[in-house]
Amino acid sequence: MPSKDTPADGAAAALAVRAYIGIGANLGDAKTTVEAAFGALETLPGTWVVERSSLFRTAPMDAGGDDYVNAVAAIDTTLSAAALLDALQAIENRHGRVRPYPNAPRTLDLDILLYGQQTVQTPLLTIPHPRLSQRAFALIPLLQIAPMITIPGEGPAHGFAPAVALQVIQRIAA
Ligand code: AMP
Repeated sequence: MPSKDTPADGAAAALAVRAYIGIGANLGDAKTTVEAAFGALETLPGTWVVERSSLFRTAPMDAGGDDYVNAVAAIDTTLSAAALLDALQAIENRHGRVRPYPNAPRTLDLDILLYGQQTVQTPLLTIPHPRLSQRAFALIPLLQIAPMITIPGEGPAHGFAPAVALQVIQRIAA
């Protein structure tokens, strides 16, 4: 018996929102941590990982430290955007995330890039993620799994690819 119904099996199908989660790590065994993050997303209540991007290596932006390993997950979730943020922060904390200063190196960073086609603007949450269209480490993995996706209020995501073309991003694993 499956541990979790698929969205197609129940009422959750009608309620689930397709969201995209940016995953990044640049402390410790970053590749293993990013792989573990996909698994952690799958364990969230009412949440199913429906697509995984490749893993990519990128240089830190606006910060020092080691290169990042980045990826994007597509999830279907019945969690609200606020509940999803809480759940993502709990996963970050389980991976030993500390925030000594802005843009500090991080064992694991999970960002809500998109939550359906909704825009959210609260003190805790801005969706679409404000830097999505300007950062290759988020945009390129997103386009790999959702080439036709639109960023609400901004336009087709692929339209921003030329603007990030000079940011070095290297695919390191399928
Ligand atoms: P970070 O240093 O990237 O982990 O920043 C986390 C902070 O960004 C948290 O305090 C969140 O409340 C806030 N935040 C705003 N919008 C988002 C978003 N779309 N996804 C994740 N965190 C967000």
